[in-house]
Formats: sequence, C-alpha cells, structure tokens
Amino acid sequence: MFKLRIGYLILVLIVSLFVGCKVSSDTTAANSEEVLVQKALEIHHRVLTLDTHADTPLRMIQPGFDMSERHDPNETGSKVDYPRMKEGGLDAIFFAAFVAQDIRDDAGHSRAKDLCLQMIDSIVTSTNRNSDVVGLALDPEDAYALEKEGKRAIYIGIENGYPIGNDISNVSLYFDQGVRYITLVHSSNNDLADSATDPDGPEHGGLSAFGREVVKEMNRLGIMVDVSHGNDSLFYDALAISKAPIIASHSNARAVTNHKRNMTDEMLELMAKNGGVVQLTMLSDYLRKAPPNPQRDTAIAALRANMKSFSEMTKEEQSAARKAFQEINKKYPTPSATVGHVVDHIDHIVKVAGIDHVGIGCDFDGGGGIEGVFDASEVMNITIELVKRGYTEEQIEKIWAGNLIRVFKEVQAVAKTIQAEGK
Ligand SMILES: [Zn+2]
Repeated sequence: MFKLRIGYLILVLIVSLFVGCKVSSDTTAANSEEVLVQKALEIHHRVLTLDTHADTPLRMIQPGFDMSERHDPNETGSKVDYPRMKEGGLDAIFFAAFVAQDIRDDAGHSRAKDLCLQMIDSIVTSTNRNSDVVGLALDPEDAYALEKEGKRAIYIGIENGYPIGNDISNVSLYFDQGVRYITLVHSSNNDLADSATDPDGPEHGGLSAFGREVVKEMNRLGIMVDVSHGNDSLFYDALAISKAPIIASHSNARAVTNHKRNMTDEMLELMAKNGGVVQLTMLSDYLRKAPPNPQRDTAIAALRANMKSFSEMTKEEQSAARKAFQEINKKYPTPSATVGHVVDHIDHIVKVAGIDHVGIGCDFDGGGGIEGVFDASEVMNITIELVKRGYTEEQIEKIWAGNLIRVFKEVQAVAKTIQAEGK
C-alpha cells in the first residue's frame, strides 16, 4: 500500500514536471514571438516605407471614390486609401497612371494621352484635397520631409509608355505634371518596346528606335526607366542605353518562380552592376508555382479552345473573355501566395544581387494582394517576416525605401549632368 502510494506520488511528480515544462516552453515561445513582432513593428515605424507601384488611379477616376475614406477590400476590391496606408504604416507610394494597351494609331494615342492626363489630375486633385494627411512628392527628399510632418508622400508614375504615342514631347509634358518613372510597356507591345507577355511575340527585338529616344529623354529629364512588363531584350537594351540606373517597379525572381514577368539571375546580377533596383511584387502567380488545379485547367483549356486571340477581339469581346476567365477563377480558386513566398524572393535577390538592389512594389489595385499582405493596411507583415529571418534594421531600411531613393537621386544627378552638357 505504502509502496503503491510512493509510486503514485512519483508519477504525479513526473507528469506535473512535464506539463509544467511544456507550458513554460510554450509561454517562452509565445513571449519571444511577441517580442519579435514588437521589435519588427518598431523598425517598421522608424524606417521610411515606400511602395513603388499601385494602380489606384484607376479607382480615383471613378466618380464618388474618396481616398480619405476607409474601404472594405472584400466588399469593394479596393486595396489602397489614405486611412489604410496609415494603418499599415506605409509612408510613401507611387500611384501609377495606367493606360491599358489599345489600338496604335493617332486616335488611340490621343485617347490614351487624355486618359493618362486625367489620371494624373485625379492624383494631384486628391492629394490637394487631403493635404492634412498626404502631400505630393516630386523629389527623393520629399518623402522624408512629409514623413516628418506625419503625412503620406504621393509620387506619380506612368505604367505603359502607350500614352507617349510616338510624340517625344509628351515625355517632358508628363515630367512637368509630376511623373517620376515610366514603365515602358505593359502586357502587349507598343511603339516603344516589346512586352514579356504579348501573345504575338516580340516586334522590335527589345526597344524600338523611338523607344531608345524615349529612354534618352527620360535620362535628360530625370525620369526613372522602368523595365517591368518588358521582355528580356528590352531589359538588356534599356541597360545598354540608359545613362542612369534603371528600376523594375514590380517584378520578382525567375529562379524562384518561373514566370516571364520575373527576372533571371543573370538579369539580377546585371541590375546590381548597373546600380539599379528590383521591387518585389505581391502577385501570387509571380511568387509561387500554383498547386495543381486540374478542374480549373480543364475549364480554362475549354474556354481557350473556342476563343480568338485577344488582339483580334473587339473591346466587348475582350471584356466578355475577361469575365469568363474571372468566373472560372471564382469557381475553382487556387490558394494565394503568402508573405513567406515574398521573403523567399527577397532572400534570393539579396543572395544574387545584394542587399542594395531590392525593394517593394506591391501592385495593389492592379492584381497585387496575397495572404498576409492583402491590402495597404497589412504591409507591416513583410517587415515582421524580414525580422523573423534575421534582417537587420539597416537592411530593412534599404529594402523599404533606401535603395529606390538612392536610384532616384542618381537619376536626377545624371539628368543634371546631361542638362549642363547640353547648355
Ligand atoms: Zn503591372
């Protein structure tokens, strides 16, 4: 009886010791996770955070869309407004005036120019209207000055060189309106350059003769040359012709995710030599290989089988086709990429090109948004993941803004030299 009781007591002791250990190790883990997140949030707050790509002007030109209101992303699809930038600790952003590629004749170019100017005007108007919380930024230093005032910095870019048409004087017109980078091309070829994704393949072998003139004019004025969406030849041409470092405002690493929109290791190495910067983007397809989804694949193949090529479609047919693709995606969804995938790409670019050549361009309101970084209010989760993987504050500062601002300053310095030589 006594022996039994001793045995029982020992057993109770062992069990309680074990449970005690488990509880305390869980608590320690939770505590260290909490400490880490707290540390990350403090870094996120201290460094300047700059996102180089959002297609929000597409929303800003819609009647009634108010940037000073908080929108529900699940209900409205909107990913950026001023309250959510503040929530996410996003200090600065490039709003891109995006004009979809259309017919390449005088009428098409003129319509594109009108729409581009309308979008730029909507950015300026919204910024002026909300001058208590945001400010228009034109120079690299403006973002830091506005941050000190507690305001978000709003920069302007153009996505797709199509609104330049074939008139070189449009480049300086857009510069005068505040544009500080131009993505030379979008999803189809234009008069400047070849796209990575034109269904009919390349047409100029990279940059056209006119595209080369546009790059030189951008160098002269101090507009950053953006190679995102371009095919590989465009990248090599831009690198050879531009006198200033270039950027990819929203592109990822092809060695991690094999997609034409992403950059090869050779391109990343050359980007480092050039002094430029690759800004990571939050599109699932560019961040990870999608898990198999045979039902969706079958449905898409069936749809494609009965479809003309996009360039042969009327506008109505194109919009119907897009809707049909969206329906299939809704019916057979694929899980989103995660913030872990984003930092896998950052890790790789840092390994190949170095810490000075990577940044962030989320592509919100242009398809960007993943699990954990669904809209502007969640961008701090990138910093948390970076801290978890051992990145220092100095490195995080470079990724979030330092690298892009360095390139921006060099682009302006090159412009000054060219202008001085021209006098
Ligand atoms: Zn884009």
